[in-house]
Amino acid sequence: MNKDYRCILCGQQKDGIPVKMDHVINGIRWFKRNVTKNEKGYVLVVCRDDYKKYYKARASFVRKQVGYVTLGIVFTIVLAITSRGNLTGIFIGVIITLFLYFLSLLSYMPALEMPAEDVGAAK
Ligand SMILES: [Zn+2]
Repeated sequence: MNKDYRCILCGQQKDGIPVKMDHVINGIRWFKRNVTKNEKGYVLVVCRDDYKKYYKARASFVRKQVGYVTLGIVFTIVLAITSRGNLTGIFIGVIITLFLYFLSLLSYMPALEMPAEDVGAAK
């Protein structure tokens, strides 16, 4: 069976560096398969032409996600202290952290299946 490669940036049918499957992609695939029923089963890649664009987008996503989650954790700690360890305060903090985490996924860029030294070489 021929595999249908699809670049996640330009959406074209091109060969490239495979995207690493993770919980976010598996979640989206599960949703498409079971809810919207439009899962195509493409092999997700980043084509050579889009690699620079991908690298920037990935760096920006990682920065954003780390920032959002850090903010959420700091917020949770502050809430825990100000509510004197009250569980409701901590619970609200955790909800806010989760919300910020999902917010950061709006600009989601998955990791690629390649050793770190190759990423350095391709820059
Ligand atoms: Zn592309």
